[in-house]
Amino acid sequence: MLNFVNWQRDWVKMRNSCLHNFAMPSNRDTASPARLLRQDILSLHAYHVQPSPGMVKLDAMENPYLLPEVIRTEIAQAVANAAINRYPDADAQSLKKKIKAASGLPPQMDVLLGNGSDEIIQLLAMAVAKPGATLMSVEPSFVMYKMIATFTGMNYVGVPLTEDFSLDLAAMLAAIERHQPALIFLAYPNNPTGNLFDAAAIVQIIEAANGLVVVDEAYYAFASDSFLPQLGRYANLLVMRTFSKLGMAGLRLGFLAGSKIWLEQLEKLRLPYNVGVLTQTVAEILLQHHEVLLQQAEQIKLDRIWLFERLVGTVDVHAYPSEANFILFRLPHAARVFEGLKQRGVLVKKLDGGYPALLDCLRVTVGTAEENELFVRALQESIHQFA
Ligand code: PMP
Repeated sequence: MLNFVNWQRDWVKMRNSCLHNFAMPSNRDTASPARLLRQDILSLHAYHVQPSPGMVKLDAMENPYLLPEVIRTEIAQAVANAAINRYPDADAQSLKKKIKAASGLPPQMDVLLGNGSDEIIQLLAMAVAKPGATLMSVEPSFVMYKMIATFTGMNYVGVPLTEDFSLDLAAMLAAIERHQPALIFLAYPNNPTGNLFDAAAIVQIIEAANGLVVVDEAYYAFASDSFLPQLGRYANLLVMRTFSKLGMAGLRLGFLAGSKIWLEQLEKLRLPYNVGVLTQTVAEILLQHHEVLLQQAEQIKLDRIWLFERLVGTVDVHAYPSEANFILFRLPHAARVFEGLKQRGVLVKKLDGGYPALLDCLRVTVGTAEENELFVRALQESIHQFA
């Protein structure tokens, strides 16, 4: 009897083990994200993009205007004839020439192209990410600087801006001395605050730094100043721009401008063919009509004045002056007002709940005149709803 019980127990054990092995491959532990991925990646939150179908979309600093019909027809023809069966021109020579001419790049300077400027931030970080290297920026600023520092295993140091969001030069210089950053990003104008930092303070930072200083001019088309003419004056200065805010967000095209000494090294890290045939084709046509996009940017700058005045004139709203195509503003119950705007079909960016200095802050992109009016009306209604 005892033998039978033992035999039965062994049989059950063996059957369970067979079933188990069949249902669950033995490498289940080794293949789980928790086991395989770096802890710093597991702890990250993915860059969040809000769903926007059917909304008045004022959350992502896009140009709200479509292109004139004649240019769209020209693009349609060029796209129809594009050789998408072939890899793109890996050096994008023709496009680079047009970018250099359109941006008035100083002679001797070159450009490196990215699939959006996000990709260039990543490429720069990869290039300098020696063990223990530091990436520095200010806070609040563009969140990808910190995220990419994490992706690439760099230390990140974010120096707080002053209360009115200007550079705290003394704190920056002290942090540079202490952390010896390999890479510093300064958004000029800054996102999400919209202001241009003091140019003289930036020069002092460039002079004090032993690492690279990248002036990120994503919003150059709406700003009154640029560091592009200063390239060549400082060996450690690079200027980064994107065409996303000028009307080409869907194309994904950014560039880094600087001396060949830097760019020929960084080119080694650029993935081959990172700028596709369609992006190259369409961007070239758009740059041939650069004046149309610049004209749209001028209109956005005019509408920014209108929008700013409406925000300043709204009780309890504090709006921050902007040199970009968006305006940061602070108001009581920002999170609830944000929901109120959404209920009325208007999507802005909620910054409240993130960086402490942005408590009760929202950011609105300057849209068309009609979109701006819709936003202002929805804002006033939402404020009354929650007053
Ligand atoms: N820099 C700044 C300051 C930005 O605000 C953004 C986009 N929000 C970027 C870079 C990245 O732009 P893109 O990847 O579209 O070129």
